Amino acid sequence: MKIFNTLTRRKEEFKPITPGKVGIYVCGPTVYDYIHIGNARPMIVFDTLRRYFEYKGYEVNYVSNFTDVDDKIIKRAIADNVPSEVISERYIEECRKDMKALNVRPATTHPQATKEIPDMIEMVNTLIEKKHAYEKNGTVYFRTRSFPDYGKLSHKNIDDLESGHRDEAHQLKVSGEDEKEDNLDFVLWKPKKEGEPSWGSPWGDGRPGWHLECSVMSKKYIGGTIDIHAGGEDLIFPHHENEIAQSEAANGTEFARYWMHNGFLKIDNEKMSKSLGNFFTVREICEKYDPQVVRFFMLSAQYRSPLNFSEELIIASKNSLERILTSAEKLHDIINNPASAESLKDGEAEIIDGVKPFIAKFEEAMDDDLNTADAVSAVFELVKYINLKTTADVSKALAAELYKTLETLTDVLGIIIEKKEDSLDEEVEKLIEERQQARKNKDFARADEIRDKLLAMGIELKDTREGVKWKRI
Ligand SMILES: [Zn+2]
Repeated sequence: MKIFNTLTRRKEEFKPITPGKVGIYVCGPTVYDYIHIGNARPMIVFDTLRRYFEYKGYEVNYVSNFTDVDDKIIKRAIADNVPSEVISERYIEECRKDMKALNVRPATTHPQATKEIPDMIEMVNTLIEKKHAYEKNGTVYFRTRSFPDYGKLSHKNIDDLESGHRDEAHQLKVSGEDEKEDNLDFVLWKPKKEGEPSWGSPWGDGRPGWHLECSVMSKKYIGGTIDIHAGGEDLIFPHHENEIAQSEAANGTEFARYWMHNGFLKIDNEKMSKSLGNFFTVREICEKYDPQVVRFFMLSAQYRSPLNFSEELIIASKNSLERILTSAEKLHDIINNPASAESLKDGEAEIIDGVKPFIAKFEEAMDDDLNTADAVSAVFELVKYINLKTTADVSKALAAELYKTLETLTDVLGIIIEKKEDSLDEEVEKLIEERQQARKNKDFARADEIRDKLLAMGIELKDTREGVKWKRI
């Protein structure tokens, strides 16, 4: 598999540190509110990467953190008049619900910054011992110029950064960071302010800087060198650059071998922002659209390209997904039809063989830097083939084989084709039965009434030769 590595700006063949295994670290959200639709893109994209590695037989250690100590959380806690852990725990729970709705599997580990403080203090100590960090009045800073490779991920020149920082000198004085040796230095540990959560440390009570969290948690749960570090492209600088500096200075080994960054998500061709009024949470979007459609939409573009979110495009995704689900349902009906032949008929083995080019095309697309857009096209070609080859008289064995192939590929994308048998289904089945009875009794008024009731519930009925079928509209 080839991966575009932000570090080298090239597509490179992926080679794991340990054969058959892959460690992936993805920067997770700061939990001070419901996650927004921009947060959902890396979650969905890198969950798909994980699924594809598993499909290829890798054992995946997938780690994604929750940043649960941060200025935004503290601000929210003060506004709501509750301790800050009440806010972070609440929104971790809400985030897990949104992930589940989007069929994003829980990570192997979801570390939380506040539960890893001793390891963070240890890393700061190591950096001070190695002269990569220093303390001034309870604040510990990383000595950026002590790390010669600084800027290697964002491809920035350290002297250009320095001149950019000069203009900020005034702001630094305001934020109390004027004791730095150098404007480029960044905070590893900050002292406690009144009313803020804090932990004891050799430099007094305080809390860790944001960048430090990921360096410590990725080391603890994956190792000193990780295979893939991923996140949104807005994290390249300074967050990921600082993570590299801290980790490589402290550990003396390469931090991450491959860096993957997803592109921005725009809303109606504009940058998402609260001031423009186009800021949406995943919860709001999923109230309007099926979360599965949202996931499918996110995979309709290659992850590095910018993606535009609009009503029109979501509806197009809904219709596309519908084509896949209808094909799966058709196979499902053949499998469940008592009249279908059990075993393969003459010529059906060849039909099964015929799916191979679509699988190859799917893998080729995914192997090319996770090109989900082309992978989705391969699934559509498979659907077209299935629709062409499955006449009503094919065997259950053929339908089951085709279903399995379709299910395997869509599962890599995190799309569920299996029909949900939920409580609504039961209610619908009961009403359909009642309607059939009413028709038998020639009570057509009641039959029509039930049909209208179902329609109001978003259920459309269709009378077919095999009986009454229903679908959600
Ligand atoms: Zn991070």
